[in-house]
Amino acid sequence: MTATSLFDAEYDGLLGALFAASPALLVIADGDLVIQESWQPCRADSMRPQNLPETGSSMEALLPELADHRAEVAELFAGRVPSLNLGIIGRPVIEGARWVWVRAAPVMEDGEVRAALFALEDAGALGDRIERLEKQRRELFEMRMKMAQVNLELALAQSEVARLDEAKSQFVSAAAHELRNPLASLMGFIELFGDEDTSNLRESQRHYLEKIGRSAQRLRLLTNNMLDITRLDAHRIELQLQPLDALDLVEQAVSEMQPLFDLKKQRIVLKAEPLVPRIWADRTRAMQVLGNLLSNAHKYTPPVGSITVQVNRVKGQPFALFRIKDTGIGIPADEQYKIFTRFFRASNAGVADGSGAGLGLAISHSLVQLHGGKLWFESKLGKGATFFVTFPAVN
Ligand code: ADP
Repeated sequence: MTATSLFDAEYDGLLGALFAASPALLVIADGDLVIQESWQPCRADSMRPQNLPETGSSMEALLPELADHRAEVAELFAGRVPSLNLGIIGRPVIEGARWVWVRAAPVMEDGEVRAALFALEDAGALGDRIERLEKQRRELFEMRMKMAQVNLELALAQSEVARLDEAKSQFVSAAAHELRNPLASLMGFIELFGDEDTSNLRESQRHYLEKIGRSAQRLRLLTNNMLDITRLDAHRIELQLQPLDALDLVEQAVSEMQPLFDLKKQRIVLKAEPLVPRIWADRTRAMQVLGNLLSNAHKYTPPVGSITVQVNRVKGQPFALFRIKDTGIGIPADEQYKIFTRFFRASNAGVADGSGAGLGLAISHSLVQLHGGKLWFESKLGKGATFFVTFPAVN
């Protein structure tokens, strides 16, 4: 509501009309808050006295909010406080007098408080700022509450994930242990068969026997991988570090794989620089990593493709670098970020070789990290892949 004069304004709007002329109003009121005198300093249109509150009218009609501060005002009239600062009082939406700063001082006569001088000041701009800040504070508080809620939900979800993870690890470990014994006896019988004279078997029977042997080996690799995963999770892999000849190591890994390369008529080339450093590594685990990379190169390269293995020292750094490059199917660009994730197989993997479980690279990655080295790769779909692995050099 906009008030322009005392006569057409309701009392609530009176202050608004007065502040339009000057931002302050001084009022002298007695102990019953009856106005005795009022004036406006610095008023530009100096003489519009009818605008001022009438002598004999009530302060509470001028500023109804004062009713909330009766006790403080009474303290002033009782002479128990030297002055009163009621601060900035926010009022219901009233144009021109939305925020009023109210202060008062006693008017003394013969040592007694005869009246009080009230100073009412327009605190519009400041009040609006306070209101905005208050709104921001409330919004911040609500956001904090929401964040706390989200954090709580996150913590609950994380503990649920941890619980499921633990249950999964226990299951994988139990399954792998249960598989180990029957698998060992199966492998034993297959070996016994190998020692026997099989000339009396039909060709198809020998073929089946070979297939059983290969499947049993795959099963052994899978159970070993499952056990490694649970050991890695439980930090139960202890490395027997020793100085090892890097070239010797890679030659041995290649020669173990040679029959498989021959089977697919893949060409394998080994290149080494003259002074290959020795590395600090656990022989079994380093062989496992190189074996995994060579086996992948073999699996994901079509027949007659080629695999190049290189070993050298990293220039200016105490590391040996193994590089295993193939001319195979490559890895789709949009899937490459998942390649070291457990149980991940690229969408083109099954076409080349259906035998993997997607554990080898995840394990190799962790094993290399345990050694203080790094494992990474470069690949283009259909253009082959190169895997790089470093191990700390002895000197
Ligand atoms: P898998 O038992 O499936 O081979 P790995 O963990 O060793 O498991 O490899 C994970 C996936 O990474 C494979 O399924 C395959 O999609 C991809 N991959 C690994 N090595 C190569 C490679 N040399 N060429 C193409 N894809 C590869």
